[in-house]
Amino acid sequence: MSTLRFHAIKETFNRPVIDVQEPVRRSAIFGQNVFNDAAMRQYLTKDSFKSVQDAVENGSKIDRNIADHISTGMKEWAIAKGATHYTHWFQPLTGTTAEKHDAFFETTEDGAIEKFGGGQLVQQEPDASSFPNGGIRNTFEARGYTAWDPTSPAFIYGTTLCIPTVFVAYTGEALDNKTPLLRALQVIDKAAVDVAKYFDKNVTKINPTLGWEQEYFLIDKALAKSRPDINLTGRTLLGHASAKGQQLDDHYFGSIPKRALDYMRDLETECMLLGIPVKTRHNEVAPNQFELAPIFEETNLAVDHNSLLMDVMSKVADRHNFKVLFHEKPFAGVNGSGKHNNWSLATNTGINLLSPGSTPMKNLQFLTFFINTIKAVNEHEELLRAAIAGASNDHRLGANEAPPAIISVFIGSQLTNVLDALEKVKNGKLSPEDKTDLKLNVVGKIPEILLDNTDRNRTSPFAFTGNKFEFRAVGSTANCAKPMTVLNAIVAKQLIEFKAQVDALIKDKKMKKDDAIFNVLREYIKDSKRIRFEGDGYGEAWEKEAKKRGLSNNKTTPSALKEQVSKKTIKLYEDLGIMSKVEIEARHEIEVEEYAMHIQIEGRVLGDIARNHVIPTSIRYQNILIENVQGLKDIYGKDFKKLAGEQMRLIEAISGHIESINKDTTAMIDARKKANKIDDAEKRAFEYCDKVKPFFDDIRYHCDKLELLVDDEIWPLTKYRELLFTR
Ligand code: ADP
Ligand code: MG
Repeated sequence: MSTLRFHAIKETFNRPVIDVQEPVRRSAIFGQNVFNDAAMRQYLTKDSFKSVQDAVENGSKIDRNIADHISTGMKEWAIAKGATHYTHWFQPLTGTTAEKHDAFFETTEDGAIEKFGGGQLVQQEPDASSFPNGGIRNTFEARGYTAWDPTSPAFIYGTTLCIPTVFVAYTGEALDNKTPLLRALQVIDKAAVDVAKYFDKNVTKINPTLGWEQEYFLIDKALAKSRPDINLTGRTLLGHASAKGQQLDDHYFGSIPKRALDYMRDLETECMLLGIPVKTRHNEVAPNQFELAPIFEETNLAVDHNSLLMDVMSKVADRHNFKVLFHEKPFAGVNGSGKHNNWSLATNTGINLLSPGSTPMKNLQFLTFFINTIKAVNEHEELLRAAIAGASNDHRLGANEAPPAIISVFIGSQLTNVLDALEKVKNGKLSPEDKTDLKLNVVGKIPEILLDNTDRNRTSPFAFTGNKFEFRAVGSTANCAKPMTVLNAIVAKQLIEFKAQVDALIKDKKMKKDDAIFNVLREYIKDSKRIRFEGDGYGEAWEKEAKKRGLSNNKTTPSALKEQVSKKTIKLYEDLGIMSKVEIEARHEIEVEEYAMHIQIEGRVLGDIARNHVIPTSIRYQNILIENVQGLKDIYGKDFKKLAGEQMRLIEAISGHIESINKDTTAMIDARKKANKIDDAEKRAFEYCDKVKPFFDDIRYHCDKLELLVDDEIWPLTKYRELLFTR
């Protein structure tokens, strides 16, 4: 009798209702645990407050004396709110967040005090030898340190004051996800301001904005724990499809099950306290799949908030006896999870640069940023693909059940018409009539609300959705810093080029500004036609068409990651000052290594489940059948075959599957041993991808067949129907 599975199921029947306390008004508690402007005004001197503001707005350095004042104010605020410890909170290249708590408590000659100095606020040296560094520290024998990022406010989580920081080597190389992002944000700020000044001289600062949409599965904790694969890899490595799956579409936008809703209410209260502006919640397509989305924010803050959220989600889930699955494809045969990254550019004058305006001039500005983004994606589609690569997201991109791994841009029919018209703009200087016509009939005709840009094309990996681009191919486990670094870097580079070309036409060809802009945009539209695709991005026809167009289709992580270390990428990052060759190569090394380890762990867990759970159970059931056949023979003599035919076929079928599982598992283990002997990390990743992983499907196939044959009473693994339909 498989105790764990049935014990777990029984536990789910007896779940207590969890008490949820919600504020009457969320606004009343929003940001209560954040050292925001209001808190700073109360706890800091005017000078200190101004100095933090200056650092946030202009990137200016904070004087050491002032830092002492700030840390004291921060400490007083935190202690008043019940905090006992502080930590630098950072995002090492493991993809998650890291923290090491220190108490405010210090002893003195005559007792003890609460202390938190400017030095401890500004810089710390965590014992970081176990964080991945891709060889950087070995090469340079440099230690790493964390340094305060004042653009993301400190917050209290539990009883700990968390200070968002970057994590860098003493030799300057970035060891985290935040540092390159901050560099990319700085570069695009400058590049976009320079271009925006063509249209409005008052623009002095541009913030890229990010609004993520987090998809996830909620599974009862006991059920999740009863599955070694979910526990160790975040997904089911085997399990036969449930008779009912998502085919009825009865979950999507349906009423949220009470237990899940209670969880969300609790979670959202935590988010409010932490200043994470979550706003939208709903059921997703698959059973037990949900989504949570915030109001968009400045990108660095939005990235931090998503990382923090994922942590908070897991903690709150525990209290509600749930486990959150962030994996991109926890269950075969039902939808996976993504994290759409909605992105735009906002000016200090309050304009969304990707929002069509009400005048031709505003629309020319809109078109400039719109077309430059498309051009940037066209030039660097392969790098964007690399930015979202990872073992778990492979299941959403390019794998058998998943759409192709091709990056394309959807813009909708109205804007397609506009770009088609712009493409016909005459070369060189425009006559006054041409210009009037263009302004009245093309640029002036862009409606402020684009009707077909809401959710019309759900298959596009990079869609324009009315006033923002939505990068949909990002995986649900991703740290948004990676795709955001790439997107902002490539658009920055594009805007720099655009400015240079427009200025050259103005200066050398004596063109008017508008003429020059139209001329350059026209060429961009022509250049980037291949990236635009309005059809079904999931279809096979698109795969063929994209190949003809010369678009990349890197189906696996090792092949996708190659672009991260190409000459083109190194030049891009070095030119913009975002990352050096050393940093780029270190990151690549970490990612291919992580990929191989990921597949290695999955292979081990699958082998273990197949051999130690599935096979013994199947043999047990086979023995029951054999006993039955033997009994029939004893009673009926040579006529027994007429009665035992079905049992005997089952006995043989079970033996057949067992043999296949054993054969495949042995072969997989051999392939793993071979792969492990390869020193080069990238080659090892390819070997795992091409030689080890292919066994997974075969092993699973036979295990899943056995699940259908073996008596349900003794099957040890919690089944899909139980995982997906327990509410
Ligand atoms: P939809 O549900 O159709 O995708 P929403 O307006 O609900 O559209 O937005 C979805 C996500 O897009 C939200 O996370 C929201 O914050 C984000 N978003 C909206 N406008 C912007 C913007 N200008 N920049 C970045 N993200 C945005
Ligand atoms: Mg959306």
